[in-house]
Amino acid sequence: MSFDILNSSILALNKALREKKISCRELTELYLKRIKKYKDLNAYISVFEDESLKRAESVDKDGFSENDSVLRGIPVSLKDIFMFKGHKTTCASKMLSDHVSVYNATVTKRLEDKGAIVIGKNNMDEFAMGSSNEHSFYGPVLNPWDTARVAGGSSGGSAVAVSAGLSQISYGTDTGGSVRLPASYTSICALKPTYGRVSRYGVVAFASSLDQPGPMARNVEDLAAAFDAVAGHDEKDSTTSTRQYQSILGHIKNNVDGNEKKFCKKCIGIPRDFLKEGLDPEVLKSFESVVSVLEKAGFSFKDIKLPHAKYALDVYYIINTAEASSNLARYDGIRYGFRSTEFSDLKGLYSSSRSLGFGEEVKRRIALGTFVLSAGYYDAYFIKAAKVRRLIRRDFEEAYKTCDMILLPTAPTTAFKIGEKTSDPMTMYLSDIYTVPVNLASIPSLSFPSEFGSDNMPIGMQLLGRHFDEQTLFEAAWLLQKERPDWFNKVSVK
Ligand code: GLN
Repeated sequence: MSFDILNSSILALNKALREKKISCRELTELYLKRIKKYKDLNAYISVFEDESLKRAESVDKDGFSENDSVLRGIPVSLKDIFMFKGHKTTCASKMLSDHVSVYNATVTKRLEDKGAIVIGKNNMDEFAMGSSNEHSFYGPVLNPWDTARVAGGSSGGSAVAVSAGLSQISYGTDTGGSVRLPASYTSICALKPTYGRVSRYGVVAFASSLDQPGPMARNVEDLAAAFDAVAGHDEKDSTTSTRQYQSILGHIKNNVDGNEKKFCKKCIGIPRDFLKEGLDPEVLKSFESVVSVLEKAGFSFKDIKLPHAKYALDVYYIINTAEASSNLARYDGIRYGFRSTEFSDLKGLYSSSRSLGFGEEVKRRIALGTFVLSAGYYDAYFIKAAKVRRLIRRDFEEAYKTCDMILLPTAPTTAFKIGEKTSDPMTMYLSDIYTVPVNLASIPSLSFPSEFGSDNMPIGMQLLGRHFDEQTLFEAAWLLQKERPDWFNKVSVK
């Protein structure tokens, strides 16, 4: 095969498929072979080999018509949190290790309707709780750039699948950074859409006011195509917006490509006060070089303030645990999932099933969440956190009166060593410092790769936008990719 599949975008693959330069079977086989070759990275919980090949053959047989989606025939993977009818959805938990989906998530359905080939489901932190992907019932995901290091979480399997070329694109979920953080640790792009842009129907719930599915890809066009395929109102999720969604890939290809100068006049805010504590000097250096690339491209910069951002982690770890403790109450050993045999009465059945079915981190969150919601502490913790959340959101609204986007590092450091932070959850939570304010404010954020640190590990940055203004983020990311193509489209292993 002379066609270079791994280094091609979805648009290039679509063209090659249409012109029969490659077959969908060849494309799917390549990814399936690589999944086997790099099995030790532990990026997948399940792989649908025969089924994917059959689907690929039917795409080859039926061919392409003019209006087909660019995702037709493209191998994609899903974090194991999305329902996929007839397939297991484990959420990387013993609790759901035998759970077979009885319906499709809207994300899954939209992909299937477009002819994308779901080749497998990715490893993740149990119930999406974590920043390193070490909290999985199926073991940690390894970072392909250095297998002694974490992949980032909680969508670590998805990030590694994309980075190592084990699927063209993947979908994760982002409650407090879970698509962006692993993207940054593995040198790929990821989008946390505005809350309400992508349906949560059929996505196992963690913290419902923060959860948002988001695409992950090796380049900006693929990220746009992946977002286009799933975004927009869904009557099955009343929190999705009815606002019209316009294709971002179409906008980039028809308006931006070739006219870049027109799209680089916007202003980017920098919250200098927030760039202090715990930020690795090398990440800060890379931040400055992203600023100079964007400046050269024509963007202007402005110092802004996010005075309440320093409380974001505290607020986040109160709200997410409260919502998780309520959402996870449904796993009682009766209606869903794992049931212990070690019990003598009904209460014993509940507690034994939950004690044995959930991992450490999940139990920690349930305990914390139950505490902050309990009578006597509810006002002091949960209500207070909800009020501070409002202030954080207001900070962004104020900032966006004077700028169009905000630039931040995605993570304060590069990927750390496996095991380095597992015994100290508080230090682990600090990895989310730059990602959680976005979820608390319900705004969109696009994470992209920048340079590598002296440890030879990737660094990532993120552009934050106004509610529902993902388009501006994509314009900037597209320009950046034009300026620094060497930062994008990397496949981490041969
Ligand atoms: N690391 C964060 C947490 O542990 C974010 C997880 C997520 O976005 N799903 O809660």
